[in-house]
Amino acid sequence: MPFYSNLQRRFWDKVQVCDHGWECQECCWPWVGAKTTKGYGNFYLRHFGKTTITVRSHRLAWELSHWCFLAEKEVICHRCDNPPCNQPAHLFPGTHAENTADMLRKKREARGPTHGAHTQPQAFYARAKLTPALVKELRFLASTGIFHPTDLADYYQTHADHIRNIVYGRSWKHIEYRLTVKWAPTDNLQGARRPKGIENAHAKLTEDQVMTIRTRHAAGETMAALGKEFGVGYTNISQIVHRHTWKHI
Ligand SMILES: [Zn+2]
Ligand SMILES: [Zn+2]
Repeated sequence: MPFYSNLQRRFWDKVQVCDHGWECQECCWPWVGAKTTKGYGNFYLRHFGKTTITVRSHRLAWELSHWCFLAEKEVICHRCDNPPCNQPAHLFPGTHAENTADMLRKKREARGPTHGAHTQPQAFYARAKLTPALVKELRFLASTGIFHPTDLADYYQTHADHIRNIVYGRSWKHIEYRLTVKWAPTDNLQGARRPKGIENAHAKLTEDQVMTIRTRHAAGETMAALGKEFGVGYTNISQIVHRHTWKHI
């Protein structure tokens, strides 16, 4: 299975995938790492430099298999009613109200998994053809700052230049897709421990972000737009681009 990032590898290493393999949608895939008292998996997600965030594993399982981040209020429910399960086919998003209704319904109907077709997950490991949706997906992934063009190129079995052209908008220009990064899996994130990267104007950037800023500026993006996206001031960006700061990379 071609894991294309450390995050994916680190995450799925802690999931006990059944012997049927990644195609299986029947079995529960329990979390083998630390769990909450209610049995949900705890995953230590490192993001925005030194700030460590803990997320519930089933939320991240859903996010990683659907290529999108959940809004704060969105709840991920288990069809299988098994809190440690990370099988993407058993997870579906619902509001708090739906979650409660689902729980009550399950209690009434006794136990047993139900299989709704409308929330079947997309396989996250078997994409190939370049479609508008995939272009958006690539841009989204690149915009998170977690996935680099070289990671994506490895995963999609293509050249990094090809990926760069897509994510920086030099090709597929007619597909409009701009997304400001917002890291959202925050259901157990305390207010005081919110990651600083986005809101804080004096945020510390990572080396990778600095390189991304330089590359994208070279590709024609304005400093103002980059500053906005990375949550730092215009001056900061200018210093990075002109190598007054971050000279060592
Ligand atoms: Zn199985
Ligand atoms: Zn399950």
